Amino acid sequence: MKKTLVLKVNSQNPEMKKIRIAADFIKSGGLVAFPTETVYGLGADALNPKAVKALFDAKKRPFDNPPIVHVSYMKDVLKLTREIPPKAEELMKHFWPGPLTLVFKRSVMVPDVTVAGLDTIAIRMPRHNVTLILIRKSGCPVAAPSANLSGKPSPTTARHVLDDLNGRIDAILDAGPTHIGVESTVLDMTVDPPIILRPGGTPYERLKDILKRVELHPVAVAEKELTTNNVRSPGMKHRHYAPNADMIVVEGELSAVVSKVKELLKFHMRKGKKVGVLATDETIEYYKADVVKSLGSRINLAAIANNLFRLLREFDVECVDVIIAETVPTEGLGLAVMNRLRKASGYNIVRVNNC
Ligand code: AMP
Ligand code: MG
Repeated sequence: MKKTLVLKVNSQNPEMKKIRIAADFIKSGGLVAFPTETVYGLGADALNPKAVKALFDAKKRPFDNPPIVHVSYMKDVLKLTREIPPKAEELMKHFWPGPLTLVFKRSVMVPDVTVAGLDTIAIRMPRHNVTLILIRKSGCPVAAPSANLSGKPSPTTARHVLDDLNGRIDAILDAGPTHIGVESTVLDMTVDPPIILRPGGTPYERLKDILKRVELHPVAVAEKELTTNNVRSPGMKHRHYAPNADMIVVEGELSAVVSKVKELLKFHMRKGKKVGVLATDETIEYYKADVVKSLGSRINLAAIANNLFRLLREFDVECVDVIIAETVPTEGLGLAVMNRLRKASGYNIVRVNNC
């Protein structure tokens, strides 16, 4: 087990010395966790196959699920790809730096392990001061999946990263909690119209404004597990974001959802289970369970997205056996939230209506 160095940095005015220490680790094939605007990432030199292999090992991530490659300049995309469609250029101008990952045809300079042997590569430019400087100082594109153990909820604080990876990585840059709280939107630009493979920090509606035509892959909005024939992004087929507790998501019209959550929580408490409810500000007072937490107000989906992974981790700390979660609206960031909740539950969804 190695010692993980914790480097606290000021996100507004980052201490260069600390970022240089982190960059030196990446340059020499090491692993460094860092904040982005979405969640904390775990970075390695994307062009160093040994470093990328170590990245998969540290996370216990399956080798068939490639990381996103992070860049700090638009021109870096040229080296990593074979072609950049005009629509992608437009999107980069609008949304980069930001929570949008674009999938391109990859160039020969990208090692196979970095893209899990695929002919494509997922790239984004993060909107975080510390991370952009880190990438520049590292002098290479940085492969960075979320900095959690594979399958666990993504980390939104340095504490979460240490809970999963302390002793498994070289260093962590701690610049405080992340702002968006769910991962980037992954958009496949190798097809026309482009397809959203994973809903995330850049909402579907904003992409549609620019592209006019954009599709949502069925797996990205699935309400049940689909067969692997439908898989286009390797991450689609792996269990994700899951807390230790069993999880149930109740979907439908709100008053019917509240009644169903009450019924389910009574049922599980009677069986002697420790029950947690993931509610919202508007509904929290209706529930009497062992642990009740609010994601935030239903009219502030950005706040809900920002709280989601933290609360799932808190339920684990409180050792609940079952988490019962309410549905939230699927517009804006709500689509990413519902995608994560459904996956976290292993598609254990109860659907209700009030007629
Ligand atoms: P994470 O790194 O944990 O944010 O996950 C990255 C996501 O991007 C996963 O869902 C991957 O399957 C997806 N991804 C990475 N590379 C590609 C690619 N070349 N084509 C499609 N999806 C990809
Ligand atoms: Mg992840």
